[in-house]
Amino acid sequence: MANNEADLIAMGRGLIAEPNWVNKVQFGQEKLLRKCISCNIGCADHRIAKGLPIRCTVNPDVIGEDEYKHHRLKNKIRLTVIGGGTAALEAACSAAEIGAEVNLYEQKSYLGGLAHQIAQLPDKKRIDDYVNYLKQRASLLPNLKINLNQKADLETIIHQQTDMIVNASGAQPFLPPIEGLQAAHAASNSQVFDIFDLLKNLAAFQEKNQQILIIGGGAVGLDVMEYFTKHCAAKVTMVEMLPEIGRDLDIVTKFGMKELLDKYQVKQFTQTKLKSISNSKAVVLQAGKQLELEFDKVFICLGMRSQAPLMPTLEKYSLEQGISLTNIGDSKQARRIFEGTQEARQILNEVHLVDQRKSKSMHLEHNY
Ligand code: SF4
Repeated sequence: MANNEADLIAMGRGLIAEPNWVNKVQFGQEKLLRKCISCNIGCADHRIAKGLPIRCTVNPDVIGEDEYKHHRLKNKIRLTVIGGGTAALEAACSAAEIGAEVNLYEQKSYLGGLAHQIAQLPDKKRIDDYVNYLKQRASLLPNLKINLNQKADLETIIHQQTDMIVNASGAQPFLPPIEGLQAAHAASNSQVFDIFDLLKNLAAFQEKNQQILIIGGGAVGLDVMEYFTKHCAAKVTMVEMLPEIGRDLDIVTKFGMKELLDKYQVKQFTQTKLKSISNSKAVVLQAGKQLELEFDKVFICLGMRSQAPLMPTLEKYSLEQGISLTNIGDSKQARRIFEGTQEARQILNEVHLVDQRKSKSMHLEHNY
């Protein structure tokens, strides 16, 4: 527009993700832009495929936007957040923005959790835009302290004299009890991997023209397929128990992945179940028939499982002490970033209740 090359510039998803895009750019706050990550989950899929109102993976309140920031806390509320993924960061920032004193504990040396790990894949790197935005937002909040390389335990919680705990400890890849699987995955010369093995050391998986077998045709399995077909010229085979690969994906990603499956001639075995596995061969069952599939490397992408090892201890402690405890994101149930972001903002309802209870008890003490 400045060069007189356009009279109007229109944005689509960018404004759903960041309704303040124009103001932030105009006033030099580009680093605080909450960029659209092109997931198509809350916008295109909700609107076109499901007939639902538009929502957004990275913007937890498309309707109310920043309205929540006007509802400041009346009392000093200490909040402990366990985990440093996107749900944990969104919860920590939202609570700090209304005045809570927040301590976040992440046992790893970095923030962003699974979202940051997945962003190591070349076609997923935009997910890190969301992580970077959350980090930037957190860095501007003096009442939010981020403790990296620190595993929270009960001692930590007691020491903090916290009023509320938010557990957001994430999820781990699931390896079901299938014959040979655990042993083959644990072997020192293992060619049996999960998604974390790939993301931890992508460089180690760049050998070309390999025979790659992927067990599981959901979002993670398809991300692995995309990486090996596009970037490693691999011959890929996928095995899926359901009648269709990518069945639960959003409509746009589903079409995109279908194109890739066709383009790279990925062999697909649907309604097929893994029966047993060794370091070079998988035995699968299809319509009662047993088939043997050979591979150079196999990736087990059969979903994620919640990790919330501290929850039983926290539940006992919170009951004894009468403090609030909430479990959000993947540690509640392994799902997409979308659900974690929504739940993270919703913790503010509980924070306000804690605040009201504190006001009431101070009022009673005062009257007494
Ligand atoms: S739901 Fe995803 S694609 Fe849609 S606007 Fe939000 S971040 Fe962008």
